Amino acid sequence: MEHQVFHDLSLKSSQLFQMDHLFQTSSYSIIFETKNISGKLRFQENPKQLIRIKANGEMDAFECPAAQVRRKCELLGDWFQNRNINMPIYGAVVLAFPKQLVELAPKKTKIFFPSQLPSFIRTFPQEKKPLGNLKSIAQELAAHHQPYIPEPICQAYDIPRDDILTGVKCQKCVTLGMKKIKRSWACGKCGHHDQYAHIPTIIEWYLVVGENMTNKDCRNFLHVDMKTATRILQSMELLGTGGKRNRTYQIDFKRYLQKSTKFDCIED
Ligand SMILES: [Zn+2]
Repeated sequence: MEHQVFHDLSLKSSQLFQMDHLFQTSSYSIIFETKNISGKLRFQENPKQLIRIKANGEMDAFECPAAQVRRKCELLGDWFQNRNINMPIYGAVVLAFPKQLVELAPKKTKIFFPSQLPSFIRTFPQEKKPLGNLKSIAQELAAHHQPYIPEPICQAYDIPRDDILTGVKCQKCVTLGMKKIKRSWACGKCGHHDQYAHIPTIIEWYLVVGENMTNKDCRNFLHVDMKTATRILQSMELLGTGGKRNRTYQIDFKRYLQKSTKFDCIED
């Protein structure tokens, strides 16, 4: 059956929810929640919890992935309903470790190892009546993906922004305040040159200071002029919102950290 698979898809209905994998056809959806927890697993029903028993007998409790995936099915159902899409949504839990021991499996939710997935998908009827247009549903899903932005430390712990030390960090001697030189950055202390030194500094700003970086924020944090700040912000594949004057930039951490490509150095 024609289908499309999405990985790490985050959508917003009544709340933000993230799906590890979504298998989408024109007549049904399957949400897969992936777990890679070592040890023996017990899916406890009452209260709903996942208990992990380590080899030394130590036990930890986690939120039940079966309950998690059921909640995501409901949230995706709401998201579809708001768009007049009506189709059944199924959920399953995938255990990443093929040798995982499961002491007690969940009652209502399917649980698999990755190798069992193709045969699970084949249990669904091949020629079901289409309940929607796969192409337009897939486009709609992709268009509404919400970037993953963790709450910056200053915001989470009420720390004033002015308390944060600024300057581009030298990755060699950890001194702050590398100087911008032609096509690179130079450390005044150890003499190290690094054309990509601004990248970890910008990422750090998003983790520590704020979600929306303006040109002025960039200037102040990296100690550069307006032109250089503009070039840096444009070179980093950030998400831009707002007009020319009040433009702010956001970072999608998941996409950013998954990227293995090298970024261009800034042209001067
Ligand atoms: Zn240095």
